[in-house]
Amino acid sequence: MSVSVWQQRPGKADHFRCDVAVIGAGIVGAYTAFSLAAEGKQVALVESRFPAAGATGRNAGMSLMGAADNYATGVARFGRQGARHLWELTRENQAKTRSFVEKFQTPSVKSGSYILAIDEAESALLAEAYALMRQDGFAVEFSKADPFGRGFGSAIMQPDDFGLDPVALVQALIEAAQPQVKLFAPAEVFAIGRGNGGRLVVEARGITVECDRVALCTNAYSPLISPYFADKVAPKRAQILLTAPLGRRVIDRLAYMNYGYEYFRQLEDGSFLLGGGRSYHRELEVGYDEMATGWLQATLEEILHKYFPDIAREAPIVRRWGGTMGFSVDGLPLAGQLPYVPGAFAPVEKPFVPAGEYETVPTPVDAEPSGIYFAVGFTGHGLGWGMVTADAMLGMLLGRASEAGLFDVRRLGNKTPGLPY
Ligand SMILES: Cc1cc2nc3c(=O)[nH]c(=O)nc-3n(C[C@H](O)[C@H](O)[C@H](O)COP(=O)(O)OP(=O)(O)OC[C@H]3O[C@@H](n4cnc5c(N)ncnc54)[C@H](O)[C@@H]3O)c2cc1C
Repeated sequence: MSVSVWQQRPGKADHFRCDVAVIGAGIVGAYTAFSLAAEGKQVALVESRFPAAGATGRNAGMSLMGAADNYATGVARFGRQGARHLWELTRENQAKTRSFVEKFQTPSVKSGSYILAIDEAESALLAEAYALMRQDGFAVEFSKADPFGRGFGSAIMQPDDFGLDPVALVQALIEAAQPQVKLFAPAEVFAIGRGNGGRLVVEARGITVECDRVALCTNAYSPLISPYFADKVAPKRAQILLTAPLGRRVIDRLAYMNYGYEYFRQLEDGSFLLGGGRSYHRELEVGYDEMATGWLQATLEEILHKYFPDIAREAPIVRRWGGTMGFSVDGLPLAGQLPYVPGAFAPVEKPFVPAGEYETVPTPVDAEPSGIYFAVGFTGHGLGWGMVTADAMLGMLLGRASEAGLFDVRRLGNKTPGLPY
């Protein structure tokens, strides 16, 4: 994320003037740019690689209600009111996503999902989660026995969950926002400063954007843009394997198992997708490299053989991949305004501390508001709550709200709690 003086001589870049620069064209950046266009804004969408190059284009494409592995855990972590509010927000996010998928006719499967237990302790927790969800008005069903008959425990069924193609959705959002959204890609942003006259100047390879506001939609990559994020968002790798198409339907729903650490779905062409396994390799599955690693893929294969030996026998694995998720320090997304204009990107100075409460280095604060807003830190659930977090950011960016509610970064104060994952 750095550019040498030789690579970017003054005057070489084209100049573009607009109202807002959105940085990062994942699901959150595409949705943000689309929403700003709907408000009549002229927008530059600046992406270092190509749309959906990051986690958005590498995920499992599962739109799930919920903000943690199950509702009982959510209640224990966020309190009853907090959990209910969070789950309602994810339901709102899901309705938005569904409306886009239907409007743009991008691929999706209305299958519902199972949250599956892998042992008795998780089965008991899911029974508790189900009872709490019903009391709080969530339309879910419960099965004491494994609905797949493959050695799982109890299951919660969430009928409104669905599968989607996240790349197609991002492309459709960007296309629908033409001509008000101008996409610059590949164009890696390497500095944000203030120009003459006080406007913000976003410098990227090949393009300089002059604008009034910036929306950072860079999730895991945010600490590379400003050290402000270094103790708030950490890059964690997630991986997936995919088999060749099977000649039959094996499962008819999306599924999430082992406290959400593993997930699987059968795609429309019959191929079987299995992801997760990072809880077995926590220390190694960090950083920005999107590679598939031998140790984690071996774990995924073990899981495949344990629960789906027939699939392992019938269909070879044809693809393996990794992606970078941005985990926030307390597990909830972060929205707000940067307290200062970062200038040329500095090296990360405040390392992410994964456990324990500690005082952060005081953050510099500019005398005037920076005008740089952000929606980041989706902790593996960006399809679940990315849009509602972007809405909270947009409320501030458009001057309609002074805070971002539950997702407001100021909840962290100057103390950063330990990461619960
Ligand atoms: C394997 C895997 C499986 C997952 N499965 C699911 C799932 O089923 N359901 C779910 O809800 N979530 C899932 N997630 C998480 C989900 O993909 C993310 O939370 C979500 O995609 C985050 O979206 P985003 O737009 O914030 O970030 P990203 O998609 O990462 O987009 C950020 C963009 O910013 C760009 N960028 C970075 N730095 C710069 C710069 N300096 N200049 C310009 N551009 C820059 C990047 O290239 C990238 O395109 C999964 C993630 C992975 C990796």
